[in-house]
Amino acid sequence: MARTPLIAGNWKMNLDHLQAVAFVQKLHWTLKDAGHEDGSVEVAVFPPFTDIRTVQTLIDADKIPFALGAQDLSTKDAGAYTGEISGAFLKKLDCGYVIIGHSERRDYHGETDEIVAAKVQAALKHGLVPVICVGETLEQREESGPTAVSVAQLTVALEGVPADAEFVVAYEPVWAIGTGQVASPEQAQEVCAALRAVIADTLGADAAERTRVLYGGSVKSGNIASFMREPDVDGALVGGASLVAEEFAAIIRYQ
Ligand code: PGA
Repeated sequence: MARTPLIAGNWKMNLDHLQAVAFVQKLHWTLKDAGHEDGSVEVAVFPPFTDIRTVQTLIDADKIPFALGAQDLSTKDAGAYTGEISGAFLKKLDCGYVIIGHSERRDYHGETDEIVAAKVQAALKHGLVPVICVGETLEQREESGPTAVSVAQLTVALEGVPADAEFVVAYEPVWAIGTGQVASPEQAQEVCAALRAVIADTLGADAAERTRVLYGGSVKSGNIASFMREPDVDGALVGGASLVAEEFAAIIRYQ
């Protein structure tokens, strides 16, 4: 089964809702002019919460073929949880995806593997496709090798996930995020293959075959093709380089 590549732009806390309009329009026109909105690559954008309604309206009005996602969600459905955003609200805004367990959430907000697992359940409950982020720090890589941390993180995240659930995994070595120190394609392949093996072990061969495993960490137009040549890398989660329309378009047009 061929997996459709997914190129996902994680804006993090960048671009307000007005800047988002200009950005999405520019990205759309750049890809359209290049004849590159043929569905061979799925494009997804992950704006800040305050932009989502605006981007949804624009995508809908102009029939822009980008998927929409959020960068986080609450484990709760509704209620007295100040500052939290429910998966139900994201679904109402036509979000298809939600990033879960990004290293910045794990690092700055104390998100444990158990919280990540609860968020995966919350996403699935509300019909959102979780993009489950895993990855090791440099110290962890030196201590326990390249795959151990990501394998352990994914194993916990998949607890209780049904075999037919749709989800995406993003391998993002912490040492490569926003640092310009990109993993080699071979390093990415090694961990992505190990993660696919975790999916096979826990959910079966079908799930492993159809689930997309992305690489993330200093992806740019100049290195994306080398990652996409690897058999277990099905796309990229892009941070910094997803904020410049021409550059992100060039990443999407890697072929
Ligand atoms: P980067 O971020 O592309 O800026 O390294 C990737 C990410 O954090 O998803």
